[in-house]
Amino acid sequence: MQITFWGVRGSIPSPGPDTVEIGGNTSCVEVRAGKALIVLDGGTGLRLLGKTLVKQMPFTAHIFFSHVHWDHIQGFPFFDPAFVPGNTIHLYGGTTVSRTLEETLAGQMDHPSFPVHLSDMGATMFFHDLREGQLLELDAGDGKVAKITAAHGNHPNGVMAYRIEHEGHAMVYATDTEHYAVIDAKLLKLAQGADVLIYDSQYTPEEYAGTAGTGGPKQGWGHSTYEEAIKLANAAGVSELVLFHHDPMQSDTAVREKEKRAKALHGNVRAAYEGLTIKL
Ligand SMILES: [Zn+2]
Ligand SMILES: [Zn+2]
Repeated sequence: MQITFWGVRGSIPSPGPDTVEIGGNTSCVEVRAGKALIVLDGGTGLRLLGKTLVKQMPFTAHIFFSHVHWDHIQGFPFFDPAFVPGNTIHLYGGTTVSRTLEETLAGQMDHPSFPVHLSDMGATMFFHDLREGQLLELDAGDGKVAKITAAHGNHPNGVMAYRIEHEGHAMVYATDTEHYAVIDAKLLKLAQGADVLIYDSQYTPEEYAGTAGTGGPKQGWGHSTYEEAIKLANAAGVSELVLFHHDPMQSDTAVREKEKRAKALHGNVRAAYEGLTIKL
């Protein structure tokens, strides 16, 4: 498996001189499992992934949405390969909101907010509803399958966390989830023994408590901290932890400081940045 980060921010794109190193695009992670192309979320990082994928057309891609908040879907109208006939895109999402995934993606492209409608995109698209606990098997094109399982996290309007397994390796993507007083049993099960856990570490503990940063306490906002990420990673026996969904207010320096504090608590942890690739 190979994991590449195209967007690592939460909430809203945050370009500027203070975020050049970590990157300002919102959530998008590419996973290659054998020859299978799997994409986790369609934040603005998806636009950049699309620019490289046009060189590999025609292709079949599987895009899994954790949920449909803006920072996880806004890149889709700018995903160039979606406009090209011959490409096939499978789109997956949870069923926790009243609108279907297709309705939501079409809705963000409705006039007058966007000039081109979803139905005008040229690629062949298939929409799939996902249920918690469901096991999905994708042909990895190498004689093996990629197995995907999903579990609910803790987030306003709901969220899905995903585990992808291929050839004895496992990675887990758990963004936009808020910890509980005790370790989240669903995420603990999902992340058990994984090689890599990508986890929502939007805040420092002080920012979460409201004693640092802006906006006051963040309880109930649906995000977590690097300390809680480490608790989950340790409990689940995860090899490597990746801090993800950085707050748009955090500069490169602040993300590196967050990473440094996390490293003092856990051996194998790093902060996600645009362009980071992890090979398993
Ligand atoms: Zn988000
Ligand atoms: Zn969200």
